[in-house]
Amino acid sequence: MSRYTGPRCRVCRRQGMKLFLKGPRCFTDKCAFERRPFPPGIHKGGRKRLSSYGLQLREKQKVRFIYGITERQFKKYFDMAAKMPGLTGENLLSLLERRLDNVVFRMGLSDSRAEARQMVLHGHFLVNGKRVNIPSYLVEVGDVIELSERGKEHGKIRELLEEKEDLQVPSWLSVDRSSAKAVVLREPKREDIDFQVQEQLIVEFYSK
Ligand code: SF4
Repeated sequence: MSRYTGPRCRVCRRQGMKLFLKGPRCFTDKCAFERRPFPPGIHKGGRKRLSSYGLQLREKQKVRFIYGITERQFKKYFDMAAKMPGLTGENLLSLLERRLDNVVFRMGLSDSRAEARQMVLHGHFLVNGKRVNIPSYLVEVGDVIELSERGKEHGKIRELLEEKEDLQVPSWLSVDRSSAKAVVLREPKREDIDFQVQEQLIVEFYSK
């Protein structure tokens, strides 16, 4: 299955919560979920009560859409997480957080993960001095992420560096905004995840 390229606000309405997929617009009264907090479709009906399978599926889809990845990629991360020591659900979230496009978003150099993905694809970032244009690249402890020469000239990145000066960066990253450089201090943990998720439901979804 390919990556979802349809209307992102529709995903929030379908999932029944704000997933913040559109950057600044999500914080304004233009947010489609604020205006129409019911599922997309013709009728303004209430939400159906979900079965336990429905709840598991919703949780899986929610996380998949937040990180903007395909079904196949998501399953691959799940399989990797299941082989790692510790809790599979927490391992899964940690792996997703370590994606390079997510790191760029966490550094405050993009308004959304989708935008960060484009920036990485266009070669605007170096990892340990080498250009990496793979959004799914998993950063490791000690990795240094910085702008390439091309990235330093990117107007939007320069704007965001000034605009998001007060951005709260997760504690597993150390970010120097003057040089737009980040160092991975440790692996992301469950408490670093800043959106509501019941990862155990995702584990149950794949354990059938
Ligand atoms: Fe979701 Fe609202 Fe952002 Fe649209 S604007 S992606 S509905 S949070």
